[in-house]
Amino acid sequence: MLKGKSAIVTGSTSGIGLGIARCLAAQGADVLLNGFGDRGEIAALCESLGREFGVRVAYDGADMSKPAEIKAMVANAEQAFGKVDILVNNAGIQHVAPVEDFPEDAWERVISINLSAVFYGTRYALPGMKARNWGRIINIASAHGLVASANKSAYVAAKHGVVGLTKTVALETALTNVTCNAICPGWVLTPLVQKQIDALAEKNGWSNEQAGRELLREKQPSETFVTPEQLGELAVFLSSEAASNMRGAAINMDGGWLAR
Ligand code: NAD
Repeated sequence: MLKGKSAIVTGSTSGIGLGIARCLAAQGADVLLNGFGDRGEIAALCESLGREFGVRVAYDGADMSKPAEIKAMVANAEQAFGKVDILVNNAGIQHVAPVEDFPEDAWERVISINLSAVFYGTRYALPGMKARNWGRIINIASAHGLVASANKSAYVAAKHGVVGLTKTVALETALTNVTCNAICPGWVLTPLVQKQIDALAEKNGWSNEQAGRELLREKQPSETFVTPEQLGELAVFLSSEAASNMRGAAINMDGGWLAR
C-alpha cells in the first residue's frame, strides 16, 4: 500500500518508533531510522528490515534536541530516497518529579525533544511535501497530550503542545494533500515505561510483574499494554488514502484510559 513512499520515523531504534517503522516498511515504504543505540546493532537492524520487506532502509543519528541535526536528517532522507512523504515525529523522553523539585535541565530537555523537535521536523519536511502536494505528518503524542498525571509537568506540557501544534499544522495544510494528525497512546511496554515500572517496584517493594499490573490498573481499564504493532497499524492507516480527510485529529489508543 505504501510502495514508492518514503518515511522518516524519529526515535525508531526502540519501542513504539521501531514498531511503526516496521509496519510502514511492511507496506512497502522506504524508511529512515533515527535514534540512539549501538552502531553495530543499528546497522544490523537496518539490514534485516530491508531484507525482510524488500525496502530501502537508511539511518541518521540526529539528536532531536539539536535543530541543525534535524534539518540535516531531513536533507539526508531527501537525498537517500528523493523525497520524504511521511514524517513520524516519535522520539520522546520522560522525567518524573514534583514540579517544585523538577530539575531545570530536565524540563528543557523534555520540552526540546518531545515538543520542539516536532516543530523542527515539520518545519523542514513540510516544504517538500507541499511542493509535491502529498504528505503525512504523524505526531506521537500521548494520553498525556489530552489529560494530566501528577509529577509529569514537562511531559504533559510538551504532549499537550504537540496536540496543539498538530491542529495548527492541519489547518495550514487543509487545502493540500498533506495531513497532520496525532496518535495518543496509553501505556506501551517499552524501555521508557519499564523505567517507571522499576521505580514503582523499588518504591513499594513489589515484583516487576506486580508493579506492571498496578501501573496498568491505575490508568488503563483494559489492564493490558497497547503494543507498538497496534500503533504501527494506526500509523499505516493515517498514511493511507482512506485517511486523507483526517486532519488535526488526536486519536487515543489507550485501553480506555480517556473513557473514564
Ligand atoms: P523508548 O525509550 O522505547 O524509545 C525512544 C526512542 O527515542 C529511542 O529510539 C531513543 O533512542 C530515541 N531518542 C531518545 N532521545 C532522543 C534524541 N534526543 N534524539 C533522537 N532520538 C532520541 O520510548 P517509547 O515508549 O517507544 O516512546 C516513543 C514515543 O511514544 C515518545 O514520544 C513517548 O513519549 C510516546 N509515548 C510512549 C508511551 C508508552 O507507554 N511507552 C505512551 C504514550 C506516548
